[in-house]
Amino acid sequence: MHPFTREHEELRNAIRQFLQKEIVPHVEEWEQSRRVPREILHKMGNLGYFGLNIAEEYGGGGDNPLAEAVLHEELGRINASGFANTVGVHVGIAMRPVYRFGTEEQKQKYVIPGVAGEKIGALAITEPGAGSDVAAVRTKAVRDADHYVLSGNKIFITNGVYADFYVVAAKTAPEAGHRGMSLFLVDRDTPGFYVQRQLDKVGNHASDTAELFFEDCRIPAGQRLGEENRGFYLVMQNFQWERLMIALQTLGTAQASLDLAVDYAKTRQQFGGPLTQFQVIRHRLVDMAVEVEKARRLTYHALDLYARGIDAVTETSMAKLTATETACLVADMALQIHGGYGYMNEYPIQRAWRDMRVTRIYGGTSEIMKEIIAKRMGLVP
Ligand SMILES: Cc1cc2nc3c(=O)[nH]c(=O)nc-3n(C[C@H](O)[C@H](O)[C@H](O)COP(=O)(O)OP(=O)(O)OC[C@H]3O[C@@H](n4cnc5c(N)ncnc54)[C@H](O)[C@@H]3O)c2cc1C
Repeated sequence: MHPFTREHEELRNAIRQFLQKEIVPHVEEWEQSRRVPREILHKMGNLGYFGLNIAEEYGGGGDNPLAEAVLHEELGRINASGFANTVGVHVGIAMRPVYRFGTEEQKQKYVIPGVAGEKIGALAITEPGAGSDVAAVRTKAVRDADHYVLSGNKIFITNGVYADFYVVAAKTAPEAGHRGMSLFLVDRDTPGFYVQRQLDKVGNHASDTAELFFEDCRIPAGQRLGEENRGFYLVMQNFQWERLMIALQTLGTAQASLDLAVDYAKTRQQFGGPLTQFQVIRHRLVDMAVEVEKARRLTYHALDLYARGIDAVTETSMAKLTATETACLVADMALQIHGGYGYMNEYPIQRAWRDMRVTRIYGGTSEIMKEIIAKRMGLVP
């Protein structure tokens, strides 16, 4: 059972063909250059791939979370997580809150060009002192007549170097804790906003990750996203789709790792035959297939609930936890089956192994997923 219709499967085929033709041949080059070229994002926008879950009046194809889910799963399937992160952050977590919580003016300014791939977004919440503890954000936004003045810094921001707009979490009432946070839209060229540096990561190299800095950065009051002091709640709502998106992308890469391992085990000859002659290898591949299927069932179940508007916080957290842990486990087992070749950069399994590691950290760590589930189970005193 899965929640997709025949139209979704047709879309899946079209996206798969596009990715094979336009993305796969360039993955290594973009990994080396540490960025995704703008032209390809523009092209995807023109083809409608950034508006799969956006109303037609803003240039999209209609509100359809399952269609966007197909995009994320297929992005995962090509084992190019750096590219998938660039697209995923723009479509799934930066443009999404503007579409959901923005004013008409904000949607005209960011969603329409965002859908077209002309403007790319980033979401800036994490700070050196505020990782899992989102409420600990210290970046301040002080009201000054018809402006807000932002000061503070952000770390680990995906698309941080090359984005055109940033959805930024800042405190408007620092003494009120999580009830004193608001969201703001900051344009890249705003005076007082700086990209401090591009960070050097273990994997996901095509995705740019940056440290950002705000110093007396004045933005018009109309750039506030949503009500003042409601930002924390908007961030929490945004997390649901972000976690499903991560589950879908990692599920795709877990499947890709399994496929690579199966192909390799069938062709690699040792002791007079293919690796699949050894029962231990066959059983390992079966174990991997079972884990991927379990992650798929849970992820599709959470997605189905979400798409039907049913509270899916528990299932979404379970899906994110399971899919990311599975993707790491399966990539590791797949690399082992490749032997020494798996550790060579010319074999794609090493990329899955490196790239999947961070999925247990971003979008809420595995430990935080367990805490959310524990709360929902009534276990937290
Ligand atoms: C490549 C990359 C891209 C990212 N992209 C973005 C982005 O675009 N925008 C953005 O805002 N952020 C982004 N992040 C930040 C990411 O969401 C955080 O790294 C993550 O939330 C964890 O925060 P932290 O790194 O400060 O770890 P910490 O919160 O310091 O956690 C350290 C360890 O302690 C554990 N821990 C913390 N609290 C608890 C608890 N209550 N119970 C049990 N264990 C706990 C954690 O699980 C972890 O194992 C990105 C990070 C990376 C690495």
